[in-house]
Formats: sequence, C-alpha cells, structure tokens
Amino acid sequence: MNTPESPSARRQRSRQQLLEVIRRENGVTRADLSLITGLSRSAVAEAVQDLMNERLIAEDVLAAGGRGVGRGRPSALLVASGGDGYVVGIDFDHERVTVAVAQIDGQIRAEEHAAVNVDSEAAAALDVAAGMVHRLLGQTGMTLSEIRAVAAGVPAPLDVKSSRIHQASVLSGWVGLDPARELADRLGRPVVIGNDADLGAAGELRFGVAKGARDFIYVKASEGIGAGLVLGGAVYRGATGAAGEIGHTRLGEQGAWCRCGNRGCLETVVSSTLVRQLMREIGLPPARDEIFPLAEVARHPVTGRFIAEAGRTLGRVLADLSNCLNPALIVLGGELGTAGEALADGVRESINRYAQPTVASAVEVKLAALGLRSELLGAVGLAGQHALLEI
Ligand SMILES: [Zn+2]
Repeated sequence: MNTPESPSARRQRSRQQLLEVIRRENGVTRADLSLITGLSRSAVAEAVQDLMNERLIAEDVLAAGGRGVGRGRPSALLVASGGDGYVVGIDFDHERVTVAVAQIDGQIRAEEHAAVNVDSEAAAALDVAAGMVHRLLGQTGMTLSEIRAVAAGVPAPLDVKSSRIHQASVLSGWVGLDPARELADRLGRPVVIGNDADLGAAGELRFGVAKGARDFIYVKASEGIGAGLVLGGAVYRGATGAAGEIGHTRLGEQGAWCRCGNRGCLETVVSSTLVRQLMREIGLPPARDEIFPLAEVARHPVTGRFIAEAGRTLGRVLADLSNCLNPALIVLGGELGTAGEALADGVRESINRYAQPTVASAVEVKLAALGLRSELLGAVGLAGQHALLEI
C-alpha cells in the first residue's frame, strides 16, 4: 500500500511543477497556472509566494489595456528570474545583423548593428555576429564564460527537427546550414536558434504590447512578410516549421512572379522593398540610407497611398487568418510597421470588412511597441529562458 503524500512533499511537488511552467512560458498569471497545472488557486498562490520569496520568480505588470486589465485589479504576470549571468541575443535580418548583450531578465547592457549581406553570405554574417559579440563583451568588461546562453533569429523557416534552413528561395547562402552549431563553434557557448517572426512574437509577448496575450499573431512586414503565431500561450510552428509564411498567400491568378515560384503572392504587392522603389521613382530620395521609421513616408501624398493600400491588402490576408485562428490581438512589426497608424488603420478596415463579425470584434490591431527591435529582444528573452531552464 502506498503511503499518502505528506503535505510538505505535496507542497514541494507543486512548487517544482509551477517553477517549470513559469520557466517554460513567456509570462503567465496565477489564473493561467491554475488552468495549466490543475492545481487549486490557493495551492498556486501559496507556492508562488514561496518561489517569490526565494527570488526564483518575479512579478511583471501586464501591458496597459491587455488581458486582465480593466476588470478589477490587474493580475500580474509571473516570469522566471534568479541567477546571475548574462545572455546574448542576435537578430539576422536580410541586410544587417544586430547583437545585444543583456542580463538574464532582459535588461540590455550593450547593443550594436552592422550592415552585411546576410542572405547570400552566411559565413561572413556568422563571422560578423561572432566578432560583434566579442567586441561588446570587451566594451562591457565581460568574458564569454559569463554568457549563459545565446539565441539568434534568422529570416527563414527552420526545420522543426534539424533546426536547419531548408528553403532555397529565402536565404540562398544558408541552405543546409545548422546556424546553431555554426554559432556555437564560433562562440563556444550553447546557442538556440529561432525564426525571426517567432522571435518577434516572443519579444512583444515578453517586453512589448502582447504581454499576457495567449492567442495573438505577430506580423513581421519587411522585405518579406512572415507571421509568428502564438496559440494557447505557445508559439505554433507547424509540422515542419513553416507555419505563418503568410507572405505567400496568393491574392489572385495574375500578378507579379514571386521568389517562391508562384504568381500574385502578398509579398509581391506589400513589402518595404516596394516602398524604397516607389520613393526612388517619385524622386523622393531618403536623406540617408536608413529610411525607417516610415512615419514621414506615410504622410507623403503619394507614398502615403501605398502605405494605406498595403495595410488594406495585408488586412485582407489577416482577416482570413483571423477567421481560422480567432486571435485576440494582431501586432504589426517589421519595417512597414514603423509607418504607424496609417498602416494599422488599413489593416483594421479590411479585418472589419472581411472577417466574421464575432472574429473582427474580438481582435485588436496594435503596432509593435519595440519597433525594429522586437526580434532582437525576442532573442534576448529566449536566451534568458534557456539559461534559466539549465538551472
Ligand atoms: Zn510567393
């Protein structure tokens, strides 16, 4: 006959179970913990207090207007903490690499970016990123041994099983590469890799406008368009890791040829490349290479039309996706997201017009709070989560 579990053993087991969930999730409320673990609210409250006393977890506030705000007292988000040490986040975009050294809780200590042709020169981009890590560590007086985890985002779908890039049409120079291993070889630290839109979603979930959201879509609208899907509180990657590639939604039989081999894809009519092209055509040269944020472009009588139309077209695709997934929130990020409300208004207009009324009324459309840094901060957050899982 089994001896019944003592109250202290039960409490210890609940505590461990909750700690594991909090380390795995990207911010949960006490109510979420009760739902996820099946433990009673009082058991959750007691164990959470123990974990906070031991500084293994901390409270974070929900974003204004977010879930749990507005009905009585806002419920705080619980996030993993504890442990000294630092992490590195790396964001590989198509034409630039950004690296940040941060504390485990996400506070940035140093950050820099460099222009490099990421798409076709994989080895050079990886070397540049590794060099930047060494330089930032030197600037801050740290050594690699203090870095507990590294996370990097790449702008291509990653195979779920192998974490390799297998789609030749996006990052031609990276096909077959194992970016995590390549970086780990260069840095001598554990590296975890993610898709850029998934990391953008993670960044907004942990530090931005999506704090506390359980069902939301993050859209990275830059040269290409990808979505990070957070469903039931977890990033959804699909059977092979290609979920959320909304840039290749076909808008019609005709239209321009897309790099994927089809015609009329969303990316062929909505992209930051087209904004640059239009600016050149109407003699609106950027004052400098860096044309972002696009707020001024959105106010121009010609390019402003493009931004509004881009928002409506993107919104048509997001209306269909919303009918499938019924999200509570859509976050617009990437280079086009920097155009501001002009883009968001177009998206809202199409969602209200084309999504089912119950779906449209449930979804809020917001601009990424972290601007072009959502992916980088998502990488920092992911590295922090991995560092804490190692404890
Ligand atoms: Zn396509």
